[in-house]
Amino acid sequence: MTTIIRRYVETDTGHRVPNHKSKCRHIHGHRYRFEAEIEGDVVDTEGVSEEGMLMDFSDVSAILEKYVHDVVDHAFVVYEKDSMLVNLFDQLPPEHRIVKVPFIPTAENLAKWAFEQVSPHITSTYGNKLRLVAMHVRETPKSWACWRE
Ligand SMILES: [Zn+2]
Repeated sequence: MTTIIRRYVETDTGHRVPNHKSKCRHIHGHRYRFEAEIEGDVVDTEGVSEEGMLMDFSDVSAILEKYVHDVVDHAFVVYEKDSMLVNLFDQLPPEHRIVKVPFIPTAENLAKWAFEQVSPHITSTYGNKLRLVAMHVRETPKSWACWRE
């Protein structure tokens, strides 16, 4: 038996899908939601702050903030082989936050990326076998992708 907890962070992030047949090829952005799904056992160590929890939600939030939100919020994620945009962004002053990635920034690929950023930091203090099992990414209210190990 295991228990699951989920916690999310939201970002305002620009992207484009360079080869897309329609409007996703345009420069645009989304209010993304990155939602971590963590599995493990409930802490049964008496008297500790996490007793009765898998992990403190605020600790999950701090990890999501540091490794996802603070990287891509109010930023533009661009595929490193999208030469038109890479050349354009190279002209911009350095205060603009451009995040070059080795993949086309679809919701599916961003889910895998965020999983890889967050997973090493979900660690168990009380031997309760915590692990990140999935990262869900909402691109629009009707569109989600999920990366699962
Ligand atoms: Zn889009």
